[in-house]
Amino acid sequence: MLDIIYIGDQIKSPKLNTLCIKPEALIEFEGEIGNFKLQVKDDDKKLKDLKTKYIVINIDAVRENNLEDTLNLDLDLDQLDPNQDIIIIQDYEQISPAVINKEALNKAIEIKNKLSEKEVYFLYRSMRFIDDNDSLFEEARQKGIIFLQYEMGNLEFIDKDKVKYERDGLTSELQGQILTTPLLKPDQRLKRIIRLLNIESNGNEYIQSTNIYLQPSLTGKRGVYSLAGARGPNAYSEYEFEKEFTLNEIKSNLDNFEPLTENKRVVDDKKCILCYTCYRVCPHGAVQEDKENDAMKINELACYGCDGCISHCPASAISIQEKTEQKASNNLLKVLMCENSADTAYKKIDKGSFKDLDIEKIPCASSIKKEDIFKFLRKKDSRLLILGCFEDSCKHITGDGRGNRITNEIRDTLKKLDLNHNRVIFERLSPRMEEDLNGFLLKWKEGESS
Ligand code: SF4
Ligand code: SF4
Repeated sequence: MLDIIYIGDQIKSPKLNTLCIKPEALIEFEGEIGNFKLQVKDDDKKLKDLKTKYIVINIDAVRENNLEDTLNLDLDLDQLDPNQDIIIIQDYEQISPAVINKEALNKAIEIKNKLSEKEVYFLYRSMRFIDDNDSLFEEARQKGIIFLQYEMGNLEFIDKDKVKYERDGLTSELQGQILTTPLLKPDQRLKRIIRLLNIESNGNEYIQSTNIYLQPSLTGKRGVYSLAGARGPNAYSEYEFEKEFTLNEIKSNLDNFEPLTENKRVVDDKKCILCYTCYRVCPHGAVQEDKENDAMKINELACYGCDGCISHCPASAISIQEKTEQKASNNLLKVLMCENSADTAYKKIDKGSFKDLDIEKIPCASSIKKEDIFKFLRKKDSRLLILGCFEDSCKHITGDGRGNRITNEIRDTLKKLDLNHNRVIFERLSPRMEEDLNGFLLKWKEGESS
């Protein structure tokens, strides 16, 4: 089990057990904080399964040149013609984030240092004073860089090296090599990651370009964080702080995965019609498909208990399970009775002999879950009897036979492990339900298999 999987770029985190994968390598994803399961394709196209406690999405944004035929900020200064002036244009069409503002100021200073005889014009619509941008701005002015504020509409490109600038009735033509600051755009691979992880994005294809949480870098899904270009252009300005915050939070919570709500939200797999409404409405990506049971399931550790899923479910299949219901019984003799058959019969028989049994009513004998049964069988000397309807009368979504099949699979596993497979038994009642029920319970209580 890894501590963190980075999707995109690795971050140095020597005290943690980490791995970095390319965004395109992720094939499947499920699970919850502390137990995320990923299927990834390695460079040799082989599939492998990975498990991690946390995920950090750290995918850089894509930089696009704002205007054709202009130079961009990444250029090498040797590419510049030393005989021409320089015009740096920031915020063309879109106001640049502070991080680009900073890059542009640094580049202007570098250029002025190299071409001190030439004029360097810096055209901007908004100066973003965070970090040390104000001291850079001051330094640039002292070096003689000429700052000109413009509005969209009062800048006209006459030629690839000529700009007409107009302000307060004054017009001037600037000539020189034009550099434009880049537009930051979300990496297209991010869209797929957002979909696979079922996390919310904010409409412009970033995970969240403004920080809606008090803690930066949190996504709506517990245990998943996003940084820099995955989070949005504004996140670059706080990158170092957010990175440190994220790693510190992960380190301090590494094995501390407590549910956020007292009571579990549970899906009744017999009622669920797999419409995926809950999957779509859950703001925290806490719902996933339970392939084993042809229904949805709610990851307890990811659920914030907002109850959005409950109010939207058209089949009323989701409910709140009170904590008291969750208390495990210490009784080692358990009976699961289908409420359509065995439980109906149970109401009519003399219960005197069966007081020492832990009897639980279930919506359907085909709704049993392997993991729950194995969990119960882990208790030493425990035994479980499952009682279902007579053949062809099962009302489960997958039809008759599922309960029996699952029980047989569990019995096979027990056999393979050299354990007593008769610790779990599936029985069907015939139309003589009460008689059958009495017989099954007595026989099973004495430890006899059928
Ligand atoms: S209660 Fe809220 S957080 Fe929990 S699964 Fe339902 S919609 Fe998601
Ligand atoms: S909304 Fe209800 S019926 Fe639809 S998938 Fe979710 S639990 Fe099932």
